[in-house]
Amino acid sequence: MLADGSSVLHVGYTHPLVLGLDVTGRPLAWLSWAEAAVLYCREKVAWTAGESSTLLMGGTNRLSGQRSYLELSSIIALRTGTARPHRDTPTLCNANLFARDRYHCLYCGKRFSGSSLSRDHIIPTSRGGHDVWSNAATSCKRCNGFKMNRTPEEAAMSLLAVPFVPSFSEHLILSNKRILADQMEFLRSHVPAHRRGAYALVS
Ligand SMILES: [Zn+2]
Repeated sequence: MLADGSSVLHVGYTHPLVLGLDVTGRPLAWLSWAEAAVLYCREKVAWTAGESSTLLMGGTNRLSGQRSYLELSSIIALRTGTARPHRDTPTLCNANLFARDRYHCLYCGKRFSGSSLSRDHIIPTSRGGHDVWSNAATSCKRCNGFKMNRTPEEAAMSLLAVPFVPSFSEHLILSNKRILADQMEFLRSHVPAHRRGAYALVS
């Protein structure tokens, strides 16, 4: 640890992802430290928040002989021109859906790896159901095979949770397994209040 409490990280160490915001503070995406470093060097970072760590870069300054360092904050806001479109719903894809349901089948309640899961349309698309978050449930292949082209009522199956439309902040929480405490605190403040309790603060 350095005197200021930050730590020096050698390049090659798998640095936790950096939370990228648009200039207004709306969460944009997770960035690798390398992507964040490029943005710093191109002066695309408008402001920063959260803890910072010091990255030890590979090069040595020819004049000073000093190794080069970069202060990397855990949360960075990017200058204008990178604002996220005004849309707060993440794309519905299997990876995002399984993350929303935390890799649990919403019918039998068991946990599976992604390769054993599938996207179930609660009202089947062939029966007029839409491919939207509120009509999509994570299902193991066994339950999906049993349900087939039926509604849960017809198949006498009940959903263990109400499928919800995750906000973009929830999507970011659910898609990063190595989230830092300050990043979690920031993202939780953007989660609808009635679902905030589902996301535990990192100690
Ligand atoms: Zn199942």
